[in-house]
Amino acid sequence: MSDLSAPEPPISRAAIDRYEEHWRVAHADCAADSSISSLRQARFVLTQHNDCGPRCLQHLTATAYSTGLIEDI
Ligand SMILES: [Zn+2]
Repeated sequence: MSDLSAPEPPISRAAIDRYEEHWRVAHADCAADSSISSLRQARFVLTQHNDCGPRCLQHLTATAYSTGLIEDI
């Protein structure tokens, strides 16, 4: 089951595709410092770097964001 109940504003499929295209490039390098500004982005990065292991900065940043953020929409 995918998480469709996350408290995020509605967004079109086309807009999501554009975001993901940008994120794919922006978060491609495991060792690069990155910034994450939404849960949707954090989930994307977590999926993209799921198999990287504990040294992956992208995964670490996304994990920190998704666990540290509670009610920010
Ligand atoms: Zn990685």
